[in-house]
Amino acid sequence: MMPVANMNYSDGVTIHIGFDDIDSPSGGCTTHLVYKLVLKWGSRSIKFIDYPGLIRLNPAIPWKTRGNGAVVLRLKVRDIDKAMDLYEEAISEINEYVSEFMHPESAPAIAFYIGEVEDKLKWLGYKAVRDVIPLDLLYRVLAKLRNTFGYHSFSEKRKRGIIGAFSAIGVTLQNTDYTYELIAYRKPEYWGKPRYVTKDSVKFMDKTTRGYTYVNYDYEEDKPLITPHGPDPVLLGIRGDEPGILVKAYNMLEINEPVDGWIIYRTNQLTDMHLRRITQVSKAYIYTGVILKARVSRRPRRIIGGHVIFSITDGISEIDVAAYEPTGGFRNIVEKLEPGDVIEVYGVVRPPSSRHGATINLEKIRIIDIAPKYRFEAPRCPKCGARMKSMGRGKGYRCPKCRYRDSSARKIAYPIPRTIKPGFYQVPPRSFKHLMKPIERFGKEKHKPPQKLYSPWHYP
Ligand SMILES: [Zn+2]
Repeated sequence: MMPVANMNYSDGVTIHIGFDDIDSPSGGCTTHLVYKLVLKWGSRSIKFIDYPGLIRLNPAIPWKTRGNGAVVLRLKVRDIDKAMDLYEEAISEINEYVSEFMHPESAPAIAFYIGEVEDKLKWLGYKAVRDVIPLDLLYRVLAKLRNTFGYHSFSEKRKRGIIGAFSAIGVTLQNTDYTYELIAYRKPEYWGKPRYVTKDSVKFMDKTTRGYTYVNYDYEEDKPLITPHGPDPVLLGIRGDEPGILVKAYNMLEINEPVDGWIIYRTNQLTDMHLRRITQVSKAYIYTGVILKARVSRRPRRIIGGHVIFSITDGISEIDVAAYEPTGGFRNIVEKLEPGDVIEVYGVVRPPSSRHGATINLEKIRIIDIAPKYRFEAPRCPKCGARMKSMGRGKGYRCPKCRYRDSSARKIAYPIPRTIKPGFYQVPPRSFKHLMKPIERFGKEKHKPPQKLYSPWHYP
């Protein structure tokens, strides 16, 4: 740790603590560890200056941690000693949490940072949401920071979690869009058992809070989406625009097991933060998310496995776009595209394989301009009405019935009605990934952080 010379502590000290990839033998998770810390520190009147942040990182990278969500706590304490006490306490909590054996693939890590978050760290954080960050880039950024920071990796070999921990600190959600998620946790004796939240109550909650909460239920498959399926301590998660509505939504649910408690996170989920607008196909780098306006250049085709693939072009180069089988009815829209249609695609770029080139994995599509489509037919005879016959290319038509000839007659184009309409279309709720912004959220983007924390933002 470096000495802190240029800071004024009269107003106390701000400490940001980032966590990533913390799991446990019983299937714990980062948010659960943080929930336990919040309850502990909350009961000691430690001041939280923001909601806990749940920061989802680039979903397109292949070596991502489970769910790829990192967490950050932002606190105000009396002095730097107090800040360090909390950091040390968090480390020992994590040691206990991951003790005995942790998943060999995981890379649990914690990081702390004192003071106002510097631009370099913000840059790192937002880059981790949209792009790939090698460890050496992280170390170069850390070397340039002026404020005090530190980190600890709980894995001897794997250090990737440090990137997530610092990225969570860097994504401050101060001038960018954000949403909230209320996560409820189970009592340990229920971990691994089926979750009993009645379907009807989830549907009721979904319908009552529609427009303010998202991705609660998949009506196409009649399946609640708020409850995960793994052995982890998460009972359910409700996502939405306002903390107060999340608490109301939670209270509408019929839950047939004792609940350990819940906490509200401020998050970059449902914001499309992972997507970057580009204007050329050549800028669609693999492992990144893009928004690209282009023209359909190859008609959609359904391949083995039920995936629908088509191609788009910017006039210079071409790239494949895919709507995968699990996206269900969404493929029926995509399949109706025709060459010449102008569209905007939203999705992440998958690397090429031996069987296909780089492919944009479609999350949303905006159909902008539908190209007219024609069927061409020989003209009818003006004398008798029979269908005329061609006399050869460019030589006009003759009537087979009355022998009328017209050397200037041409084929007639009949427009074929197109069955798709301009507008936005998205994958069904069950295919939603954490960062994807639902069409229903367009226009509801936030630009300012909350003025104060909703009370209560956690229970107990
Ligand atoms: Zn005729």
